[in-house]
Amino acid sequence: MADRFPCGLMVSDISKRELTFANEYVASMLGYTSEEMAGQLLEKFLSKASLIFMDSYVYPSLLDDGEHSELQLVLLGRDKERIPVLANIRANEQGFMHWALFSAIERDKMYQELIAARDQLQRQAQELKALASSDSLTGLLNRRAAEQRFETLFQQSKRTDSPISVLLIDIDHFKQINDRYGHIEGDRILIEIAEVIRSTLRTVDIGARWGGEEFLITLYDTDLAGAADFSPRIHKGLESVLLDGFTVHASVGVAAVDLDLDSPSVAIDHALQAADKALYQAKEFGRNRTILAKNS
Ligand code: GH3
Ligand code: MG
Ligand code: MG
Repeated sequence: MADRFPCGLMVSDISKRELTFANEYVASMLGYTSEEMAGQLLEKFLSKASLIFMDSYVYPSLLDDGEHSELQLVLLGRDKERIPVLANIRANEQGFMHWALFSAIERDKMYQELIAARDQLQRQAQELKALASSDSLTGLLNRRAAEQRFETLFQQSKRTDSPISVLLIDIDHFKQINDRYGHIEGDRILIEIAEVIRSTLRTVDIGARWGGEEFLITLYDTDLAGAADFSPRIHKGLESVLLDGFTVHASVGVAAVDLDLDSPSVAIDHALQAADKALYQAKEFGRNRTILAKNS
């Protein structure tokens, strides 16, 4: 009779933890016959984790509640293959447990697929975020992302009262480079310059492509004097960017950020205006140099 049910049925002895009956459905799911299973210890057919779950949760609370439903267990087949099942269990006063088992292989597969799909979505979301915040040519932060990072840095620096300074870097005679060697070669040079900038920065600093051949660096915990010490590293780094045997040069304007201002966007506007003015002077004075803004 019990063999006609389209689900697994088992009876086990609570104190001996021994199977007294398994219908054909369970037996064939596990690769045994009903006769082979009867009389065996239950632990033979349960995974380690399921055994621990039974001991720590199911047995103790069966005494109180008398039954459990939708327990997620893993059975072990004859060749130790793992078979996920859902189990409803009821205990009776004679010390026996009656089990109804339903295969959860499909459900488990769907669950695994859902987890894989969720992980993939999370990865894609991270990639999209990185794409949206980086400049496609150089991989540095783009202008919008740099402004966002600046806001955070500004608030943090206000709290800790640590200075910030900005360096605006503009490549000298870049138009000539393009005109003479072509736009593609110009792009390659921009990528190399970005690499120089990236390699000079600490992780707390912000390096961004501000526009065409202009780059912005924001130095954390660095006052104007500190930024003046830092700037030669950029000029020096650019010496490694070679074009037809010549090195690429840049002019740099440096300004300190006024932490007394309330708004980060006003603070960066002010600092950039001052840095831009200094940069203009650097160009005027013959390029390939750094000028510090006077008002900061
Ligand atoms: P200066 O020393 O006064 O800065 O001279 P410059 O030629 O660098 O100045 P200008 O601003 O006149 O020219 C900038 C050039 O940068 C013009 C533009 O074609 C080039 N440029 C801007 N963005 C890109 C880019 O993504 N790739 C390439 N290859 N060139 C770019
Ligand atoms: Mg320019
Ligand atoms: Mg330029």
